[in-house]
Amino acid sequence: MNLHNRLTLGIGVLFVLILLLGFQSVRSVQQLSIASKNILTDNYNSVHYVEEMLRSLDRLSQDSTSRDVLINSLALQQQNITEVNEKEVTSALTQKIDALTDSVSIIQIQEIREDLYRIMELNMNSIRSKSSDVESGSEGAVQWLTILSILCILLAGIFLIRFPAIILRPIDKLKQGITQIANHNYEKRLDFGNNKEFSAVATSFNDMACKLSEYRRSSLDRLMTEKKRIEAIVNSLHEPIIGLDPERNILFMNDEAFSILNLKRDNIIGRNAAEIALNNDLLRRLIREVYAEQDNQEHEPLKIYADNKESYFQMDNIPLYINPVGETEQQFVGNLIILNNITKYKELDSAKTNFIATVSHEMKTPISSILMSLQLLGDSRLGSLNEEQTQLLGSIRESSNRLLNITGELLNLTQVESGKLTLKPKIAKPIELIEYAIKATQVLAERFHCFVEVEYPEKISKLFVDNEKIAWVITNLLSNAIHHSPENSRIIIGATQHKKQIDIYVQDFGRGIDPRYHKSIFDRYFRVPGTKVQGSGLGLAISKDFVEAHGGTISIESEIGKGCRFTVSLPI
Ligand code: ADP
Repeated sequence: MNLHNRLTLGIGVLFVLILLLGFQSVRSVQQLSIASKNILTDNYNSVHYVEEMLRSLDRLSQDSTSRDVLINSLALQQQNITEVNEKEVTSALTQKIDALTDSVSIIQIQEIREDLYRIMELNMNSIRSKSSDVESGSEGAVQWLTILSILCILLAGIFLIRFPAIILRPIDKLKQGITQIANHNYEKRLDFGNNKEFSAVATSFNDMACKLSEYRRSSLDRLMTEKKRIEAIVNSLHEPIIGLDPERNILFMNDEAFSILNLKRDNIIGRNAAEIALNNDLLRRLIREVYAEQDNQEHEPLKIYADNKESYFQMDNIPLYINPVGETEQQFVGNLIILNNITKYKELDSAKTNFIATVSHEMKTPISSILMSLQLLGDSRLGSLNEEQTQLLGSIRESSNRLLNITGELLNLTQVESGKLTLKPKIAKPIELIEYAIKATQVLAERFHCFVEVEYPEKISKLFVDNEKIAWVITNLLSNAIHHSPENSRIIIGATQHKKQIDIYVQDFGRGIDPRYHKSIFDRYFRVPGTKVQGSGLGLAISKDFVEAHGGTISIESEIGKGCRFTVSLPI
């Protein structure tokens, strides 16, 4: 039976019972009231008339009106005959009263009295029997009412207990089903048996769960296809690639990465990289770089034995961020390590360095011989030259000197690039290095009418450096200062002592360098745009390499129009 019918039947029965209860109550009260009314009219009035007649009879000799009262009461009694034998007794009474004359004998009165008592007794008996009838009637009514009330209470009780359960049980079941769906258990199905109303809900619910399940299966299929596609893309890349999650667990690795890390694919994905790195030197280096990295700085190329030869890889560590669905803030989801194979470029670079080294070296001898020949040509003992020839000779000498400088710089550069830079450190006083640089640039300073001032403290520690290299650096700085200063200007060169280092500085009051170029001027071949002075753009780059090879630093402070101050800081 469906819920609607059960409810209708239950409430219907309860309604009928209440109706019956009401009807029975009214009927019982009505019966009681009729019975009491009957007793009143049928018997009580007769008793009352008899009493009246008895009283009149008592006063009959003293009071003349008593006879009238007696006759009146008798008349009323004659109209109120209700009991068996009452009629006969009343007729006898009537005859006796009618026979009364003015002289009333005691016997007559006695006979009348007896009749009256007889009538009273008949009525009293009737009252008694009617009362017991009413009593038994009311008992019956009470029984009926009690039964009906108990039935009503029982039914209402059953309703009270069963009704919420009937309604709530399927709702609970439905709630549980919805919770299961919310927890992605799309296999959940509902069954409400014969419950017609909820069966419809169950059918809709089961349809929905079925469609969701199908949808998930197709989404999973799609996701798996996409995952496989991405894996195929990653594997097709020639660069080794490693994906890490924020806890440094390995998310993915392509075949190239497995090959150069000498790892087998089984049991690697999902494991912690640091744990695998315990037995893998290369992975340990990569992970160390990931941990150490603050910002996207350049890494030193890694020398790895791959493809049966020594190869060079440049590591790129890319932090990965995503915008989770429904959120605006980016969330860190891991790192992507890409190893770019730069072996080809390294080989080309070293070929270039070798070529420059060879050419520079080969050029040095002819340039030196040109300079020697120029020296001889300028000697007056070999013949005099006219003014134009002397000028030409000067300009050839200048260009040859510059050529010699450039080849020297290129040779220094190749030394640094090929990693063949060897330092021959000796104990040196900073002033010796400064004096060397002043001497080397003396002719230049005179030509540009620059005044070189020296600031030097009385007490200063000695340095343990490769004299030639550091002297070359300071000479280059002083030469730059002279070249970029206007005529007749001052140039200050000096040294200061700090706790663990000595600063040697060169300050000029020339046109200065825009702060946006401060980083780039130490790059190879970089020249500040608009520089008219001739040069190669290599001097500062080589200076930086030389100073850093000593564990020192080189820095610049400058503003446009206020000159430059280059400082070389060397550890004591
Ligand atoms: P080069 O002087 O051979 O061009 P450097 O590496 O020594 O190469 O200098 C790089 C550039 O820095 C120069 O071209 C010049 O533009 C700028 N520069 C270097 N020193 C100074 C200086 N003292 N004043 C202004 N500009 C300078």
